Amino acid sequence: MNNTDNEIIAAVSKLLSVAPVKIAVIPHSNPDGDAIGSSYGLAVILKNAGHEVRIVSPNDYPTFLDWLSGEVEIVNFQKKTITAKKYLQSCDLMFCVDFNDIRRTGDMAATIDSFKGPKIMIDHHPYPTSFCDYCISEPEYSSSAELVFDVVIACGWGEFINRQAAEALYTGIMTDTGSFSYNTSRANLYKVLSELMKFHIDTESVHDLVYHNFSADRLRLMGYCLHEKMIILPECRTGFISLTRDELKKYNFVPGDTEGFVNIPLSIHNIVFSALFIEKEGFVKASFRSKGSFPANSFSSDHFSGGGHLNAAGGEIQL
Ligand code: 5GP
Ligand code: MN
Repeated sequence: MNNTDNEIIAAVSKLLSVAPVKIAVIPHSNPDGDAIGSSYGLAVILKNAGHEVRIVSPNDYPTFLDWLSGEVEIVNFQKKTITAKKYLQSCDLMFCVDFNDIRRTGDMAATIDSFKGPKIMIDHHPYPTSFCDYCISEPEYSSSAELVFDVVIACGWGEFINRQAAEALYTGIMTDTGSFSYNTSRANLYKVLSELMKFHIDTESVHDLVYHNFSADRLRLMGYCLHEKMIILPECRTGFISLTRDELKKYNFVPGDTEGFVNIPLSIHNIVFSALFIEKEGFVKASFRSKGSFPANSFSSDHFSGGGHLNAAGGEIQL
């Protein structure tokens, strides 16, 4: 952790040295495998350390992550706003995981902003904003899950890692690296993976649960996208796909169904930039992926009020 002072780690570990502390772990809205994996892994470890913990997700999370449950409750802020607000108001502290800008939490931002207790950020995106009291921001990490593991060890909570927590962190790393195909060139990643493997993770079953757990409708939606909706702009070395709410409805869309679609045009020869546009209620969610030095994040911040990493970014546009 190059950017994190020892004082921050010492302060965070001190905040949690008096058990039990009442904690909320917050992922970003439209959480992906890393947001849920890193939040769930951290939450299980904190629970094992004797604290009271819930995850409060700004909105629904993908069904392919449903199996990450049972150890810690995940409250959906959008669906159970009153319960979520009540819990947040009664908490002693908050972990903000896998995001570095409060706007990434959508309608939950005001509640997070007004929270009186300490807020701790654990994140791997570039350009952190300063909405947390303690900022653990390490953009060279593959995933927040890899970083959560190092934070847990540095804080002295290693004895509280169990198989469920290790599997959740492994899921975060696996999904944010496209099954170990990008952001995989740092030695630390393999060190963390080998430590996680000591908890007897069933890696084949995790892969199956995440990638082979979709409906037939989802595959048909993918086929429709590729056949009817994929536009290739060879002169711009770009491919993009757009989907309306009606199209999603026709294929019985559930959250998570379009996960991975944005990567598909990048498998075409000479395409280095791809985009996916999904119509939501009142806005369009945009996802961007690039290869090499083309900056998906500045494209997104310039045109879609978004941001992210060099090669993976997102944003939105109001309708
Ligand atoms: P995805 O395309 O999977 O939704 O997001 C890819 C990455 O883009 C995320 O890990 C995050 O870094 C970034 N990202 C996605 N949506 C937004 C957004 O609305 N605002 C910002 N600042 N970043 C986003
Ligand atoms: Mn991430």
